[in-house]
Amino acid sequence: MYPISLNLDGKRCLVVGGGGVALRKVDGLVEEGAHVTVIARAPCEGVEKLANAGEIELHRRLYEEGEATSFALVIAATDDLEINRQVFNDADGAGVWANVADDPPLCSFHLPARIRRGTLQFGIASAGEAPFAVRRLRQGLEKRIGEEWGEWMEAAARFRSEVRSLDLPLDDAEDCYDQFFSATVDLDRMRVRVPTEAEETTWLSAGGSESGIADDAPSSGAVAAAEQEAPSFGLVSLIGGGPGDPGLLTLRGHQRMLAADAVVYDRLAKTVLPCDLDPHVELHSVGKEEGHHPVPQEEINRLLVRLAKQGKRVARLKGGDPFVFGRGGEEAQALKDAGVPFEVVPCVTAGVAAPAYAGIPVTQRNEVVRLTLVTAHESIKSDGPQVRWDLLGQDRRATLVGYMGVSALPNVAKSLMEGGMEPDTPAAMIERGTTPGQRVVVATISTLADRIVEAGIKPPALFVIGPTVRHFEELDWFSTRPLAGERIGVVAPAGELGELLELSGAEVVEVPLPVTPAGRVVLGALPLTGWVVRHGDEVDALDEEREGPGWTRDTVVWTLDPKATERARSREWRHVTEVPSPAAPADVVAAVRDGRRTTSR
Ligand code: SAH
Repeated sequence: MYPISLNLDGKRCLVVGGGGVALRKVDGLVEEGAHVTVIARAPCEGVEKLANAGEIELHRRLYEEGEATSFALVIAATDDLEINRQVFNDADGAGVWANVADDPPLCSFHLPARIRRGTLQFGIASAGEAPFAVRRLRQGLEKRIGEEWGEWMEAAARFRSEVRSLDLPLDDAEDCYDQFFSATVDLDRMRVRVPTEAEETTWLSAGGSESGIADDAPSSGAVAAAEQEAPSFGLVSLIGGGPGDPGLLTLRGHQRMLAADAVVYDRLAKTVLPCDLDPHVELHSVGKEEGHHPVPQEEINRLLVRLAKQGKRVARLKGGDPFVFGRGGEEAQALKDAGVPFEVVPCVTAGVAAPAYAGIPVTQRNEVVRLTLVTAHESIKSDGPQVRWDLLGQDRRATLVGYMGVSALPNVAKSLMEGGMEPDTPAAMIERGTTPGQRVVVATISTLADRIVEAGIKPPALFVIGPTVRHFEELDWFSTRPLAGERIGVVAPAGELGELLELSGAEVVEVPLPVTPAGRVVLGALPLTGWVVRHGDEVDALDEEREGPGWTRDTVVWTLDPKATERARSREWRHVTEVPSPAAPADVVAAVRDGRRTTSR
């Protein structure tokens, strides 16, 4: 089979038969501008209508031998096998392309199933074999390929003619196309967007070189012209995402992400991405992921510069505060050097927030008058520490918070005690502070290193050393909440229910339906302990998400409606528990709390 797309404009085409199948073929041909003749003894209403409207030529009679030979293309769709065969033989003998509906041996061409989006068409062909499979495939793809593909195609065609009018060298033109394509198409998700005029102008004026980043020497007149015009760059916001609890993100940070064209995020900042981020916003993950190497800092810098030079507004989202052990200063410098405007949106750093969630005030009148934030990593560097641990060891009225401190702790403790720190100085390690996964180990400086090994503490974690650590016993407000440790998905709007779950100590992930790409990142950032599902429709929509990373074998599903329960069970969801209706938000909280006691995890 050799696929071709025919230009049927003004071509004489014959359809023999006048039933529903024939009508569909006639419609398709007419739409393409063909001159269609229909021969049918008893044409259906639709065919009659087309004839009355003058769209087709209709002969209400039987097919006569030899008639097919004078057409460019012939389709037979009668229920009389003999007539179909006759039509095919006549056409085929005369070298006319012929197709008998649902009869592959009597076809010199097949009609692919197709999906149309403006001038863009996707055709699916199987040489007439297993039409049922092709039909289902088409239906499945139809849902995944949105109407925007048509507009995108139009934009692509327009862009192409603009590139051609510039008369660029071939390579530069290809670069322009690359930029258009990579910025507007997400093939993994089968999504496209129409670029803004400003983007198109940037790609065109840069003549395809990545706005001169990797390619300093102007390769064409267009590049030189663009440089003289000084293109308007987008703004990069270096945003602190806080230590993990999404509620700790700043208003400014949230606004900047919603208004961004691209969000570049670290692993530790995933939980604070807005779940309702427009699906068209580019998402770039640059954090260290399990099984993947982290993106090198230089590459992140280049990415930020490149996106900004494409005229985009960029939200660079980092864990904690961008300028506290976050290399935010280096990124700011790279942007400055490239002439890209930037701003810094600070946020609470883990070294302050995690102790707060553990009930440890980092300063306290009459007890502690100094707070030191230090990267503990420095203590194990072979080129000699940049930190005077000996001096820190002598400072009693102080709190010492150590980032990146899990593997370095034994070294740090030893150095501090050698410097004069009392071995019974209170010390704590906080893992994943402010998140549902928060764990706190409290001991003394001489015992903490052993305790964290026993507890299996892993990064991200930081240590807090100083007298105020002992307040933890009385001030631990976070882990004592009824739903502490719960991370619960709720379909937006979560309303009063969401608020109450959160006040009870759960982290609520409020996801819009259909689930957005950003929503998926957030869901997958940490394991979900549960979902609260209010309607059967939500079950259907969420079913596809069950394979996602946040949803584990232990995730419990609380349903608030018998229909939802039924659908969840019929789809074989695990751990489905119905909260008897009518369920007020407080009843849901109570059910989740009681369920914790009975569900073994
Ligand atoms: N810019 C970040 C720090 C990045 S360095 C900030 O201001 O918080 C990464 C280190 O931060 C981790 O190794 C860990 O020591 C600490 N950290 C980040 N998030 C944390 C959290 N939720 N709980 C405990 N430590 C955390």
